[in-house]
Amino acid sequence: MEKKELVITIDGPSGAGKTTVSKKLAAKIGYRYIDTGALYRGIALITSEMGIKEDDESAMAEACESVDLRFVLEEGELKLLSGSRDISELIRTPEISMRASSVSALKPVRAFLTVLQRRLGEERGVVFEGRDMGTVVFPNADLKFFLDADPHIRAERRYVELKERGSKIDFQTVKDELIQRDENDSTRALAPLKAADDAIHVDATQMDADAVVEAMVVQVSSVQG
Ligand code: C5P
Repeated sequence: MEKKELVITIDGPSGAGKTTVSKKLAAKIGYRYIDTGALYRGIALITSEMGIKEDDESAMAEACESVDLRFVLEEGELKLLSGSRDISELIRTPEISMRASSVSALKPVRAFLTVLQRRLGEERGVVFEGRDMGTVVFPNADLKFFLDADPHIRAERRYVELKERGSKIDFQTVKDELIQRDENDSTRALAPLKAADDAIHVDATQMDADAVVEAMVVQVSSVQG
């Protein structure tokens, strides 16, 4: 019998390992994965290049009309394109992280990306990671996870990731910015970061990505029946 194609959501704060886990989970079960934070980062980058202030809601709304963001899969890696330009690396700086967190609080930005994300979910067989996937974008998802970890551990992981990309940022700045971003994301009025009532909580403080994925695969099998 054909297995049921699911929509799976993974929400949680910055640095909890959502991207690594979603990618591995998707590869293991033959699904696509969508990093929705990359879309917010894409909007942050493009509007910054356009010289738009991060709190200028009407200019942001207008900019969203002309944005052409797309994902392509290259050798198992998800690349984000703006038109034909690959912006996957440009969106990973600390500045863009903070700006993404600011622009994501704006109504036109969320409305635009929510529509885009729902369209990407129409085919099913997909893992979505973000902040409001299980609460707002896919409230009827088949399986929802909320992935969390101790803030110090999350900051350490983010720090290592940034160092690998050649960043000169110091650990305390990474930690302060991560905590600031969690605060922004969980206190904003629209689609704040929180676990859906029916989400399965996973604390990754003591678990590596493979252990988290193993635990998730068990849940996937039980939902697929
Ligand atoms: O996950 P990532 O750190 O790449 O997300 C960057 C920012 O985008 C987050 O801090 C958050 O403000 C925003 N975001 C969001 N909703 C999502 C995904 C990301 O508001 N579904």
